[in-house]
Amino acid sequence: MNEITDVAIIGGGPAGLQAALTLGRMHRTAIVFDSGSYRNDPADAMHNLIAHDGHSPAELRTAARADVGRYDTVRLLDATVQRIRGERGRFEIETEIGRFLAGRVILATSMRDTLPDIPQIGSVFGSAAAHCPFCHGHEYAGRPLALIGPGPFLEHMSALMSPIASSLTAFPNGAQLDTDIAHRLDRLRVDIVEDPVRGLEDVADGIDIIVDDGSAAHENARLRFGGALVKIDSTPAAPHAEQLGVEVSETGGVLVDPLGRTSVAGVYAAGDIAHNRGTPAPMSAVWSAIATGAAAGTGVVKDLADELLTSLDTGTGHVDASA
Ligand SMILES: Cc1cc2nc3c(=O)[nH]c(=O)nc-3n(C[C@H](O)[C@H](O)[C@H](O)COP(=O)(O)OP(=O)(O)OC[C@H]3O[C@@H](n4cnc5c(N)ncnc54)[C@H](O)[C@@H]3O)c2cc1C
Repeated sequence: MNEITDVAIIGGGPAGLQAALTLGRMHRTAIVFDSGSYRNDPADAMHNLIAHDGHSPAELRTAARADVGRYDTVRLLDATVQRIRGERGRFEIETEIGRFLAGRVILATSMRDTLPDIPQIGSVFGSAAAHCPFCHGHEYAGRPLALIGPGPFLEHMSALMSPIASSLTAFPNGAQLDTDIAHRLDRLRVDIVEDPVRGLEDVADGIDIIVDDGSAAHENARLRFGGALVKIDSTPAAPHAEQLGVEVSETGGVLVDPLGRTSVAGVYAAGDIAHNRGTPAPMSAVWSAIATGAAAGTGVVKDLADELLTSLDTGTGHVDASA
């Protein structure tokens, strides 16, 4: 563990792999640590990514790993990082296969999602039900759409989906709708079903929402839709932001500048865990994971180049002409 790698990249999703590609092309040494769990695991197909629209997320990762594998200075390790400590120039990365040293760290560990407490939601999430209109909205086009979540989610999704779905039905599912929101939903011609949702079921042409309509027979009613958008909650998938003491936003995202720099020198973040200070919330999409991965890789390369120039001025610099 004596050798210090230029960068440890924690996460082998699109953000981490793109950062690795950028660093590999600039002949900087990097290790990518990948624990093998990806945010879009529930989805068979990925959308809104040029040249990959409708392809599987696994296919993208396989192709990206092959790209990265062509650069000798980058290593891909299937390992989970347990702890990171240290400072710019010397971070210690602890994993189940050993300890590693790195001069910089890129956090690309993403978020972990918690689905609402609705029976069977796990079996439909990522296909007949989803959380993101940019990823799945078009797949529900021209059919009735169910929206499940609290008021602010319902009105936001209604505005986004009104040109796409044939009709919209909102299920606050126990949440209180304030009058302004109810009024706006009404103006958007959104039906509101107050009955609690008791289950979701995949059917051939969409999804059945099972509600408790309070009938005397206590039989649940079934309402059929082309798809459903549901509100989910997300928290950071790994504890490293906390371990390193970087500044995070209210959403739990690590605050970064456009080059992926966090509030701690030498620590960068990319992908769904990164929250660019210029946007109201972190972007959660493969395109932005790739873009921010490239930005963080570029940020690290710039930092290393600046460090080299400074060391030349102070007389401590050394340039390896064979490298
Ligand atoms: C159901 C669903 C469908 C989606 N569909 C789309 C879509 O169609 N289009 C789209 O653009 N976006 C989609 N998304 C969003 C997309 O999944 C994310 O934006 C994207 O995966 C973010 O990339 P990432 O590299 O930041 O994180 P991820 O792809 O989640 O990768 C995180 C990486 O970090 C690793 N990791 C975490 N902790 C550790 C640790 N301690 N040690 C080592 N490794 C660690 C994981 O193993 C993984 O390699 C979808 C999301 C969901 C939930």
